[in-house]
Amino acid sequence: MAATGAEPRRRIPSVDALLRSEPGRRAGATFGRVLLKRTLTGVLAEAREDAARGGGPPQDDVLLARAISRASRAANGLVRVINATGVVLHTGLGRAPIPEVAARAAARAATGYTDLEVDRETGRRGRRTTRAELLVCAITGAEDALVVNNGAAGVLLVLAALARRRSVLVSRGELIEIGGGFRIPEIMAASGARLVEVGTTNRTRLSDYREALADPVALILKVHPSNYRVVGFTAGPSARQLASLARSAGVPFAYDLGSGLLDRIPGLPDDEPTAAGALGDGADLVIFSGDKLLGGPQAGIVLGRADLVERARRHPVARAVRVDKMQVAALEAVLAEIAAGRGDGLPVRRMLREPAEQVRRRAEDLALALDGDLSGAHVVACESAVGGGSLPGAALASFGVRVQAPDPEAMAARLRAGVPSVFCRVTDEGVLFDLRTVRSDEVPDLARAIVYAREADDVEDE
Ligand SMILES: *Cc1c(COP(=O)(O)O)cnc(C)c1O
Repeated sequence: MAATGAEPRRRIPSVDALLRSEPGRRAGATFGRVLLKRTLTGVLAEAREDAARGGGPPQDDVLLARAISRASRAANGLVRVINATGVVLHTGLGRAPIPEVAARAAARAATGYTDLEVDRETGRRGRRTTRAELLVCAITGAEDALVVNNGAAGVLLVLAALARRRSVLVSRGELIEIGGGFRIPEIMAASGARLVEVGTTNRTRLSDYREALADPVALILKVHPSNYRVVGFTAGPSARQLASLARSAGVPFAYDLGSGLLDRIPGLPDDEPTAAGALGDGADLVIFSGDKLLGGPQAGIVLGRADLVERARRHPVARAVRVDKMQVAALEAVLAEIAAGRGDGLPVRRMLREPAEQVRRRAEDLALALDGDLSGAHVVACESAVGGGSLPGAALASFGVRVQAPDPEAMAARLRAGVPSVFCRVTDEGVLFDLRTVRSDEVPDLARAIVYAREADDVEDE
């Protein structure tokens, strides 16, 4: 006998029933039936869980709409985002935007064949990163270089190649977590190297390293605490002092710079260590990312003493962390720009160095575009951040537009979900759009998105 007084659980439709419905069939044809089936399965499982907790299951068309929206987000892939956060190297938004010339090089490499690993003169097999490595050595004066998939892979590879089952000295003040699960002690464990902590969190002396060198040591590692800063009663030996201690002990000294500033950039705070500077101070190896201050694609670059670079290159992990051809092409193009003295034209450097007064003009353009549609939009002074774990504490004077909103979080959420998607900052009274990271050709789209998101706010208010 059929149960009467249907329990909430029973009212949840089957995946097949929704797939066979008219909108289900249409969405299946657009995005692929396999994809829609997968998202429907997830949505229905969640509805069943809700129902088990006593929630009433939503209507069939609501469930289907949810599944279609998830399928469409997956099928559309990455979408364009206007970054109005003022964080130049925003890891969530893809870190460094690369220049057109690099994007074109990557697209060329991707859509056709290239001489990725062959020597055109001899026809023999070569390595995929020789051009990029030559360029980066030329720029920094390093003896040799190795390009791998990302900075974390560079650190892992150096540790595995130089210090497996042996000791690596690291200051307790540098046992950092970068975010995304990159923690020095864990990378160390994964590489098979043995971490030997020296000093204390706020103060590590050269003598702490010297004492630790009484036992056999494979490597001294210095890590740039790139996303935070210890202030107050602090001390740590300089790279130069550590390099000289390491040399006298006959132990290699590697410096994980993280942020990848190759050389001083005029107009930027000069407390960020540079690759050329660290090598000049006597570091045997430096390791850094391609998509932070360097302004290129994701990559990890290991620079320094030829014999040590060669050991890393020959290690089996090197093959496991090699770069893809699109990364290679983009990195070559970015490095070629820098080598030719055109580094200042790279998007990251332009954004970092743009004078606040110039940013103010874009803020005024935005405020003007909003004027008439929107009351309560004001140009305000604000501070941009470098981000990406670079130049911690360094704020760049900037300008933005503040828009008052009754529910700033809700408005920010609508802006994120819109097309184009907009990311901004949320303050107590409203939302703030920092124009440092917004190109002038994006201002009209940004203005439209703000008006649209704000109108929805007004409607919700009523
Ligand atoms: C960012 C960073 C890394 C990791 O580099 P990825 O390219 O993100 O893998 C490692 N060390 C330091 C000090 C960093 O700042």
